Amino acid sequence: MTEHMQQFVRIAQRAPVKRGAAERREDFSEIYREFDQPGASAQASRCSQCGIPFCQIHCPLGNNIPDWLKLSAEGRLEEAYEISAATNTFPEICGRICPQDRLCEGNCVIEKGFESVTIGAVERFITDTAFENNWVRPIRPRRERAQSIGIIGAGPGGLAAAEALRRQGYEVHVYDRHDRVGGLLIYGIPGFKLEKSIVERRRLWLEDGGIRFHLNQDIGGAVSFAEVRARHDAILIATGVYKPREIAALDKSLVGIVPALDYLTASNRKGLGDDVPAFDEGLLNAAGKRVVVIGGGDTAMDCVRTAIRQDAASVTCLYRRDRANMPGSMREVSNAIDEGVAFAWLSAPEAFFGDGHVTAVRAARMHLGLADASGRQSVEPIAGSSFTIEADLVIKALGFDPEDLPGAFGEPSLALTRWGTLKVDRRSFMTSLPGVFAAGDIVRGASLVVWAIKDGRDAAAAMHELLVQSAAALATAAE
Ligand code: FAD
Ligand code: SF4
Ligand code: SF4
Repeated sequence: MTEHMQQFVRIAQRAPVKRGAAERREDFSEIYREFDQPGASAQASRCSQCGIPFCQIHCPLGNNIPDWLKLSAEGRLEEAYEISAATNTFPEICGRICPQDRLCEGNCVIEKGFESVTIGAVERFITDTAFENNWVRPIRPRRERAQSIGIIGAGPGGLAAAEALRRQGYEVHVYDRHDRVGGLLIYGIPGFKLEKSIVERRRLWLEDGGIRFHLNQDIGGAVSFAEVRARHDAILIATGVYKPREIAALDKSLVGIVPALDYLTASNRKGLGDDVPAFDEGLLNAAGKRVVVIGGGDTAMDCVRTAIRQDAASVTCLYRRDRANMPGSMREVSNAIDEGVAFAWLSAPEAFFGDGHVTAVRAARMHLGLADASGRQSVEPIAGSSFTIEADLVIKALGFDPEDLPGAFGEPSLALTRWGTLKVDRRSFMTSLPGVFAAGDIVRGASLVVWAIKDGRDAAAAMHELLVQSAAALATAAE
């Protein structure tokens, strides 16, 4: 064991400096500042180099955390970067937006009594430093292959697969219906969690590596799936999940009740300098409004914190369970509270009021009942507990379901699970259509960036294996 490590008994946990709530309410910049080198090394040195590193076991990518922490503690950042990049396509992104409290850091064994190692912040620091020092080398395949791959969806799943396949020498074409690369990294997740320049830096790196992007291409819309499929030797579908879940039996025809992703996309586009009429006209803009956000996940937290930054008159989050049962990251809930969001926990909407435009939401108090087979407690309304919150803007953030891909793609035999996600072979990632693979949220359902990266990398490896086999079979047949 090196003398640099096991410093948790001497050095206290110190996260990177978080900007004060009053300051961060004023802009969409990230709320955490970067570590400096001594700070990152000191925090990395707190790791006790566990024989069985639970942090690594609970990282979806199986990142070799103890090794890159040790190298960081020793100031050997370029080597730390090489190890970090070997298992994660976008470490600086995961370091910023993984819910570490539920993954690596939440399982760090020094947590009790000493607080976990700040793994995510060190991971981010390593790759940001690597970019600054030009250690992030361009993707340069050792050999070019004749086969070409089409990837539908430029989110983290599609991009992770694109990188891995390009590295193997395939010609890689990525199609997206949006005008920018990044999927939810660019149009869903706000800049205060992940600045857009970080995503843009990766786009440039992928393009420089020879990956070709075809933007504004709605596959299954203006461009047929059959057309794209005919152009390539294999296809990866990484289209994510976008159909917003609705609130059953409530009248939603009033102006001012909007889906979360429309609201977040408008805000992100505005920040990127786009012309957004629905924002300028006030429909998707919280400025001066009493805002109610319905939901308790990451999307709801991003909406409430966006509304605060848009200078809403008030922001209330309605969630039907309690704080301990919120699906979103606990860290983000705390950040939202610090920034001035009011939470109405154990509250569910019952009715919307208004005359053409929404004016109020009536909600009922809930209590948690018995747990079901999955361990989740049921929620039941408390009779006579209704209360009303005045609202000019109601944002629905209840989660997402998959769109009807077999219908849109004109492929009725594209098999689905009972949740409407694409059914794939668990080892090969192949769908029911030969040569068509799938990865990310469209397979898993709404999940996390780190899981999309993991699936994209694994799907790419499986595609490569099959393509090599089929090329070998063709060569044998030709002999
Ligand atoms: P996506 O990122 O959704 O990308 C899919 C891409 O496919 C999109 O660019 C879309 O335009 C494109 N596409 C779809 N259909 C078509 C078509 N027919 N033709 C062409 N292109 C198409 N995860 C975290 O880990 N941390 C967070 O803090 C976090 N915050 C989130 C906040 C919000 C508001 C949301 C909505 C999600 C958040 N997530 C977070 C989840 C995370 O963003 C997703 O799990 C992840 O982006 C999934 O990656 P993906 O590549 O599968 O899909
Ligand atoms: Fe932790 Fe996410 Fe990084 Fe894994 S990828 S080490 S879970 S921050
Ligand atoms: Fe280090 Fe914590 Fe991982 Fe152990 S669990 S190797 S102390 S980061």
